[in-house]
Amino acid sequence: MVQKSEIVMDTVAQLTAEGTEAEAAVQESFTRLQELEGLLSNYEEGSDAARLRDSAGSGAWVKVSPEMYHLLEISQRYSQLTDGTWDITAAPLVKLWGIGTDKARVPEPSEIEQVRGKVDWHKLELDGRDSARLLEPGMELDLGGIAKGYALDEVRKIYEAHGIKNGLINLGSSSMYGMGTSREGKPWRIGLRHPRRDDPKEYLKVEELFDAALSTSGDYERYFEENGVRYHHIIDPRTGYPAWCGREVTAEERTVSVVVIADGRDCGVKSDLLTTALFVLGKEQGGRLLKSLEAEDVQGEIVTEASLPPWQ
Ligand code: ADP
Ligand code: MG
Repeated sequence: MVQKSEIVMDTVAQLTAEGTEAEAAVQESFTRLQELEGLLSNYEEGSDAARLRDSAGSGAWVKVSPEMYHLLEISQRYSQLTDGTWDITAAPLVKLWGIGTDKARVPEPSEIEQVRGKVDWHKLELDGRDSARLLEPGMELDLGGIAKGYALDEVRKIYEAHGIKNGLINLGSSSMYGMGTSREGKPWRIGLRHPRRDDPKEYLKVEELFDAALSTSGDYERYFEENGVRYHHIIDPRTGYPAWCGREVTAEERTVSVVVIADGRDCGVKSDLLTTALFVLGKEQGGRLLKSLEAEDVQGEIVTEASLPPWQ
């Protein structure tokens, strides 16, 4: 069993693999992760996202990498399916709130109103081949909710090419892929964090993964509190606020965390973006979407504040 960790894509990537080519598979995977970090960067000069931002509103098509194009196609399909709660053009709102940065603050309603108009996945156009464009000036992509899921799918392909049967791909604990079984020949067991307990090892529950991807999203990952409100990093593009903030909601309605398990093609990307969308949609609407995705080998759970086991 080979196991190695590296900091890449703003997270700790831990790769575990078993097999005669395990060493090579892990090495090649880290090289690919470094490559993807540049390719899928929101800001890095010359990256696809930066070039799309710079020509937003000009009408010009921007040729992007095949990786980026594939990712945008999937993203747009799921924006449609999730009523726009998944929106890869959320960047202007994400930046305005600045959650997780030292510039985090509650913006004025007028600022939110103004910026909200720049977030609209319908105004990201794909040409059906290899190019994309953003229709309004000031528009921008945020790949933060999808890049790790994509990376998961890419590492999994490398593992498969090296004949790895058993392994765990862990990108910062919020995106994972469990291949085959663990050392004891049992399914990989993944502990899910209790969203209101400080110790990350106090689990809400434990999931078993067998050739499947698992993704989690929660309001405990990146947030700040002001006047008793927890402002977190998952934005509702319809309101311009972090989901469930800025209006009266009950503990039965308020989502605190989401887990999605998926298998098959693109399962890393799918599970990653779906946790974000389901967080915004909430138990009722999100529950219906989950039901409709069962045939696609997607399963999930939307946890509300009211359904949490007691804490404190
Ligand atoms: P992580 O696992 O890295 O904590 P998530 O998978 O939960 O992150 O995705 C949250 C990130 O996605 C945010 O930090 C932001 O960059 C981006 N984001 C926030 N809201 C949305 C949204 N409604 N649609 C698409 N991306 C979003
Ligand atoms: Mg996610």
